Amino acid sequence: MYPQLEIPNTLAAGPGPGNTDPRVLESFARAGVADHMQADVTRGMMESKLMLREVFGTRNIHTFAVGGTGFSGLDCAFAPILPGDPVVVFVNGTFSGIDDLAIRMKASTPADLAADPMNPKPDNVITINVPHGQSVTGEIVEAALAEHKPMWAFMAHWETGSGRINDLQGFNDACANHDAMGIVDAVSSLGISDFNIDDYPAVTTWASCPQKGILALPLTYAPVSFNDRVIDLLKKRGCYTYVHNPILEARHWGIIDGKDVDTPAYHRTHSGYAVASFHEALRLLLQHGRAQKAADYAFFETGLRQAIEAMGCEVTSNMTSLVVCNLPGALAGREKELVGACRAEGFGIWPTLSEPVQVRVGILNQLTDAALTDIVGRLADAMLKMGAEFSRENIMAGLADYLASR
Ligand SMILES: *Cc1c(COP(=O)(O)O)cnc(C)c1O
Repeated sequence: MYPQLEIPNTLAAGPGPGNTDPRVLESFARAGVADHMQADVTRGMMESKLMLREVFGTRNIHTFAVGGTGFSGLDCAFAPILPGDPVVVFVNGTFSGIDDLAIRMKASTPADLAADPMNPKPDNVITINVPHGQSVTGEIVEAALAEHKPMWAFMAHWETGSGRINDLQGFNDACANHDAMGIVDAVSSLGISDFNIDDYPAVTTWASCPQKGILALPLTYAPVSFNDRVIDLLKKRGCYTYVHNPILEARHWGIIDGKDVDTPAYHRTHSGYAVASFHEALRLLLQHGRAQKAADYAFFETGLRQAIEAMGCEVTSNMTSLVVCNLPGALAGREKELVGACRAEGFGIWPTLSEPVQVRVGILNQLTDAALTDIVGRLADAMLKMGAEFSRENIMAGLADYLASR
């Protein structure tokens, strides 16, 4: 028999997952053994549903969470896309690239799939590639939707692969101008940026993940929200999935026939542990307050960015939970070596997952002076060990001054 698996504590200082709050872990471990129709489990799901509407800033009745990871929520978000539907997809990094693949699979006919089963390229999906390190702008979206007049348009709000914020207002406005139904991957922005999805009415569908801004345990629940326009379409046309059918899946969250009901209906076996921990993560987020949390991320990201620039790196990102950078000239090409050395010591930073190779350092759930100081100190040590030339003392003093300025 293998020995019992031990997994150490590391400092998650990358794009996600973030370090789980002890309160979330405790609620997971404290949950009793109860089935998925037990009254407190279903009450927890219905309270989570109501908290999610606040987190999303929405009155969409079809707001709930999908068991699994971010891509599970996205799979549910893409479920209403049927073979042959015209779609325009904007890609500016790893994750919107995977979303593009997932959408092409949904929009493929059997012949499209057979032609290239793992990477189908249906003519009805137009992919607009925006170079890594740049944002998708409203002008890019407007021009593409004006030309192609699609039924659906897709964009990532914050592209975590390159650390870029895309133009949500511009995306919404272009969708409205050209009567496209917008789908947004809000995996990296929900719970970090302070926005209300109801301010973007042409975006019909939103999907996020458990372990980034929401800071629930990974593999628990991915938040999603659908407005009535897409739900009405789904009622008319259906879709090719039971488990990720938004109307059917919502039943277990007490959303039936477009209304909140007191008695949910079985859809699949949810977990009391997952529900308890997810519920606690949402409580934590709302107790901190969306606006305060967004301001805290912006403050600490600026401190991290300034320190990384003072170490000689070039920062190319503009997200507030993550800094993506190029190493100073003398260390260029050694990004994976740096990341590997840090990770071997339990300091979990990341490289980019698609070209070009850059370093990604994040601050999910690290919103304290001590945590940021620890991250900057560890990064400085690792870079100095590789031969970078800067004064550690100056970097740390600069950071301390910045933190004291608050
Ligand atoms: C992390 C991420 C995903 C994938 O989420 P998983 O939980 O790994 O499935 C998708 N889109 C974006 C923008 C992400 O940052």
